[in-house]
Amino acid sequence: MKWAVKTLCFLCVLCGASLCLSLDREAFSFTNYDLTLQVDPDQHRLGVRGKITLRNGTATPQKIAVLQISSSLDWKSIKAGDKAVQFVRQPFTSDMDHTGGLSEAIVTLPQPVAPHATIELEIAYEGVVLLDATRLTRIGTPEDAASSTDWDQIDSQFTAVRGAGYVAWYPIATEVANLSEGNSLFEVLGRWKARETDSTMHLQIDLSSQGSEMPKSFLSGVPCVAGLWEQARANSPMDVHCPDQRLRSDTPTLVIADYQVIERPGIEVRFLRGHDAAATNFADAAEKIAPFITDWFGRQREKAKTADLPDANAAPFESGSLLLTPLPTTESKLPGLAAAHQLTHASFLSFRPWIEEGLAHFAQALYVEQEKGRAAALDYMGLHRSALGQIEQATSAPRSEDEVNRSLVNTTSEEMYRSKAMYVWWMLRDMVGDAALKKALAAYRPEQDKEPSYLPRLIAAQTQHDLEWFFDDWVYRDRGLPDFKVESAFSRQTMTKTFMVTVTVDNLGTAGAQVPVTVKFATGEVTKRLDVLAKNKAVIRIEVPSAPQEIVANDGSVPESDIKNNTFKVEAPAN
Ligand SMILES: [Zn+2]
Repeated sequence: MKWAVKTLCFLCVLCGASLCLSLDREAFSFTNYDLTLQVDPDQHRLGVRGKITLRNGTATPQKIAVLQISSSLDWKSIKAGDKAVQFVRQPFTSDMDHTGGLSEAIVTLPQPVAPHATIELEIAYEGVVLLDATRLTRIGTPEDAASSTDWDQIDSQFTAVRGAGYVAWYPIATEVANLSEGNSLFEVLGRWKARETDSTMHLQIDLSSQGSEMPKSFLSGVPCVAGLWEQARANSPMDVHCPDQRLRSDTPTLVIADYQVIERPGIEVRFLRGHDAAATNFADAAEKIAPFITDWFGRQREKAKTADLPDANAAPFESGSLLLTPLPTTESKLPGLAAAHQLTHASFLSFRPWIEEGLAHFAQALYVEQEKGRAAALDYMGLHRSALGQIEQATSAPRSEDEVNRSLVNTTSEEMYRSKAMYVWWMLRDMVGDAALKKALAAYRPEQDKEPSYLPRLIAAQTQHDLEWFFDDWVYRDRGLPDFKVESAFSRQTMTKTFMVTVTVDNLGTAGAQVPVTVKFATGEVTKRLDVLAKNKAVIRIEVPSAPQEIVANDGSVPESDIKNNTFKVEAPAN
């Protein structure tokens, strides 16, 4: 919390100690946005006016509210109940915005807002949204890579502007986020999203459109109804009405482009001129895999929406069931992988990232398994292992209270809720079986998920296997990773001339897991599964038809910190 102190002191100089003592940037959540956007792609301009509703989420009355927009936008007016309110404008350095800064308005409210009470403010601001990757270049990211990552801009060729965490094109209120300080941006963004899950947004877009093509706009998965063709043709501003949208964990994203569209029952793919083949390829892949995803994750709640990005190197972006990705670069195998992820989001909704994202990544591994078998799926998951290795390095020391808070249920770390969660889902599936896991997922209702133990209980209800230790090591807490070592293996010949191998597996690591133990012999192998708790040993007997040669603990399905001690050569058995 070093930065918080620094920021407060800075403000005390700027705006007087009495005001600053009570300044809590994250005191309010924004429960409703009702905004009219004027977008002028030729001038890169954005003008916004409208109303926002702020709710005091703290236990004390709040007299000050902080509103933040991109540093490339300027506050014009802020009113409460038709009366202009006093506010101080100041730049606020933060990587929540692509420019690396926010235009902050520190608003003195007409009267204190009681805990849990709301206040409506009328706001106006304007400016430009240009391609700007300052927050990345200033930490040393090469120019090209930076602008392929922070590709947001308003432009006559193509307009795409992502919301909180990319471009603050609607007001937010957050503490400082710093990309050079580990997980800081994810944490700030995670807190913001958690406060915004019940928010709604309603937009009206005035688009000064040029030329005869009607630009189509859509917002974070909700296509905005582009009305008035005639007006657009007449070269006058066009009204675009966007239906009310619940933000959930989505990032409101405005895209205005001359798209063509392929509509299929489960997906619509919007593509740019010349990308017909790639778009068809993507839609085909999605359609092919849709029944498989439905079988695992339930019927689609909504249509998946894919939209093309013009920069072939642009980093794909997802928000809910919306995926923005350069279509021409999708190679033959990739559309299926991307579609598996996206369709899972369209089917399964959770406000917990380890469930929402973990399952979408798990679905990709399932897809690879279906296409190419288990070994290929484990290889695919292995691509995530370097991320886990970094976590492990950072956590090899005894864990503090802070680090326990990094557990999967409440993590904001992408490595955790993507890579680690994917493995957790895969291990759960290996332990309880496909049918039981599918049943547990089918019983899941996001609105009932009030406690971290809700989903684990749904899974436990489907199996006889005791999983409490597993959830405790992997989900409720972050106990790091296991480290399996085959300590010994003895074999003896049985009366029926088969071989009984007794294998002792030692788990030197800090998390328990159920690990597959494989006995290899001249003509094949036999695998059985064994629970090995953290800092514990377990023994398993495996019968094989001929003399065992090698024992291997872990086929790669359990992430572990050291995989160099997992094999054991068996000496020729004594007769
Ligand atoms: Zn996702």
